[in-house]
Amino acid sequence: ARGLAKIYRMGAVEVPALRDVDLTLREGELVVLLGPSGSGKSTLLNILGGLDTPSAGEVLFRGQPIAQGGERGLTRYRRRHVGFVFQFYNLIASLTARENVALVTEIAEAPMAPEAALELVGLGDRLDHFPAQLSGGEQQRVAIARAIAKSPDLLFCDEPTGALDSRTGILVLEAILKVNGELGTTTALITHNAVIADIADRVLSFADGRIVGTRVNPVRHSPAGLVW
Ligand code: ATP
Ligand code: MG
Repeated sequence: ARGLAKIYRMGAVEVPALRDVDLTLREGELVVLLGPSGSGKSTLLNILGGLDTPSAGEVLFRGQPIAQGGERGLTRYRRRHVGFVFQFYNLIASLTARENVALVTEIAEAPMAPEAALELVGLGDRLDHFPAQLSGGEQQRVAIARAIAKSPDLLFCDEPTGALDSRTGILVLEAILKVNGELGTTTALITHNAVIADIADRVLSFADGRIVGTRVNPVRHSPAGLVW
């Protein structure tokens, strides 16, 4: 991303959310975004993922501007290359875990088998459970399986453990780490929990719409070894 700025216009009021952000995600990297509420983290992730457009600057994927094909180009970028995981799982209640994932794989160009995606996040024995029959952490792992089942190059997670207790959150983070490690999916993860930062390759700190700090972890720690 080069020179990204975002100003939300609310009638006569302008809310600056991002100010001149430059960022390069390296292939296979796991990057954590930290920062106070309102500092622009979700805005950045949404722009990187093509869910929102910047007021200035541009996002390049493998050297090509993601906006170059207009709305169709953006849709294509999102469909082919990006998986999103949010704080709330948004699973379809009337579909099983397998069916929730299969919805995505049916329209993907390079889909994983739904069973394989669910196996990867540790839910190989919950294929036929409905969301109401799964714990919050399990539902979030179904959402991760759904996000990765189309074999995206990029996985963007916006506070994926925000609705979970810390023990359950570890299982969700382990699933994300496994996706990043085994599939090589480049991952950017927003969290309010500074401890999570120890498992990342790189930690970016946000304040007031800017990246104000970068920390590189020479060694990546296992989430199981963290003290919560
Ligand atoms: P949090 O940790 O609370 O999720 P964040 O770092 O993700 O915060 P953003 O959601 O990116 O912050 O918001 C950045 C700023 O932009 C905030 O001041 C917010 O009020 C504003 N903002 C975000 N989305 C919109 C919108 N759709 N319309 C207007 N203003 C918005
Ligand atoms: Mg946010």
